[in-house]
Amino acid sequence: MNDKTVGLILKEQDYRESSVILTVLTKEYGKISLVAQSARKMTSKNRGSILPYTKGEFFFDFKETRTMFRLKTAHTIEMYRYLHEDLNASLAIAVIAEVMDAFLLESADFELSSHFYELFEEACTALNERHRADIVLAVTLADLLDVQGIGPDVDECVLCGNTNVAAISVRDGGFLCADCAAGHGVSLNDLSSLRAFRLINKAKLAHCSILEEHMDSAMETCTLLVEFLRQHAGLSVRSFPLFQQMFQV
Ligand SMILES: [Zn+2]
Repeated sequence: MNDKTVGLILKEQDYRESSVILTVLTKEYGKISLVAQSARKMTSKNRGSILPYTKGEFFFDFKETRTMFRLKTAHTIEMYRYLHEDLNASLAIAVIAEVMDAFLLESADFELSSHFYELFEEACTALNERHRADIVLAVTLADLLDVQGIGPDVDECVLCGNTNVAAISVRDGGFLCADCAAGHGVSLNDLSSLRAFRLINKAKLAHCSILEEHMDSAMETCTLLVEFLRQHAGLSVRSFPLFQQMFQV
C-alpha cells in the first residue's frame, strides 16, 4: 500500500554504502524506520529533505507486519532553522531525541508515541522560537519522566510527607525533609535549587517565558533529571555531557 505520513525525524544513521535509515516519529504509525536509498549521493532527490529534527511529509510502502519501510520521497514541512543554527538548541534537541528514541520501542504504545510526537514538536518549536535551551530541555525531560510514571515527587518529603523540604534525592525519587535527608546521608540543597527543581517539574513548555524570567539556570535541574533517567529507567543519556559542556547562557 502506498502511504503518506507527516513525521518528525528523531535520528539518521548511515546505512550501507550510500543510504540512510531515518527514525521518524509519526502520529499514525508511532515510531517507524524509513530507508532512504542512495540518500547520501549528491544526485538523490531526497538528500535535502531528511535532516534530523525537522518535520516532513514522507511517502513509503506501508506493510502491516513491518516497522521498516523503503522511503520513496520526502519533503520538509518545517525546517526549524534557528534550532539548527544555534549550538545550545541543537545540542538540547539531540538529548530530547535520544531519550524519546530509547523510550519508544518500534510501533510500541500508541498513546505514548502520540504524546511524544506532540512533545517533540513543541520542544522543536520552543527552541526555534529562541527559548532558552536549558529550560526547554529541563521541562521536556521532566515531562518524559512523568509520562513514564517515574517523575520526581516535588510536593513533599517522599519518605514522611513533611512539606518543609530541604533536599533533592534522586535515589529516593524526589524531595526530602531535613530529618529524612540526614537519616539517608543526603546533602541539603539551597532554596533556589529546590525552587528551580519544583518549578521545572510543575511547568509545561508553554511556560518557558515565565521560567526564563524567574530562573538564572536550569542546568542543575537538567543534570538531576538525567540522573533520574539513569537510576529509575536504566537509561544513560550519551548526548547530555556534550550539552553540559558546551551550553552557554
Ligand atoms: Zn521526611
